[in-house]
Amino acid sequence: MNAPLAHGAALPLMLTELRLPTIRAQWQSVAEAANRESWPAERFLSTLLDMEMAEREIRRIERHRNESQLPPGKLCSNFDFAAVPSLSKALVMAMTEADAWLEQGGNLLVFGPPGVGKTHVIAGIGHALIERGKRVYFTRTTDLVQRLQAAKRDLRLPAEIAKLDRFDLLLLDDFSYVRRDQTESNVLFELIAERYERRSIALTANQPFSEWNQVFPEPAMTVAAIDRLVHHATILELNVESYRRKTAEAKRTKNARRNPATTTDDN
Ligand code: ADP
Ligand code: MG
Repeated sequence: MNAPLAHGAALPLMLTELRLPTIRAQWQSVAEAANRESWPAERFLSTLLDMEMAEREIRRIERHRNESQLPPGKLCSNFDFAAVPSLSKALVMAMTEADAWLEQGGNLLVFGPPGVGKTHVIAGIGHALIERGKRVYFTRTTDLVQRLQAAKRDLRLPAEIAKLDRFDLLLLDDFSYVRRDQTESNVLFELIAERYERRSIALTANQPFSEWNQVFPEPAMTVAAIDRLVHHATILELNVESYRRKTAEAKRTKNARRNPATTTDDN
């Protein structure tokens, strides 16, 4: 009876040293059950290892969620697909469930006027992919362009672009807000060319391709960028009334009905 106790005394230290915090926390209760029910040694060991691995996976996904910069709460599950008849829910769900498009560096381009749910849709897809173990990074395109420009000034643009390689999917929100006159937007082209057919990009844009000449320094570069982006792409057009405006109006009508005195308010 002494030998197991002696082993047990050393366990916490060894488990800490080996970085097995879940086994460290759980081994005593699992050992009790194993002793009580005379588990085979294999079952005891695999139960503990399963627990450690499951906990590790949860922590990994949590880390990926934190690094993703995704807007919290914008999920596929709380997106009202009925409000956007042009958007196929089945298609969006398929993109969250299949890896093939990410493996071939496929892209997702989401177009539509402001307030129709473009950001919500790509964020929802991003969140779902994280749950499936993928790594994604969400950013306003203008922020990323600034970061890449700073890198370029320091002669480390290739390194900065390579850092983004760890993400299976880069979510570039409001792509068409980039202006070639404000920025040296050829860094954006470098990024697109570098990821082409290797790593995926999802972007949202208010402006159709025809307006993208404002984004890139020269027309030839615009054409080359669009060419690479659309080559393996799913394109979603959200051409509905602004969800933002619609819900604001619905709220106003409801308030007006409840309190007719405020109907003259035009806010
Ligand atoms: P966009 O990026 O097209 O300008 P957003 O995705 O920011 O629009 O949507 C504006 C707001 O309306 C957000 O709060 C978003 O969560 C919400 N929203 C838009 N469309 C929907 C929808 N179909 N179902 C649920 N919420 C929506
Ligand atoms: Mg948006």
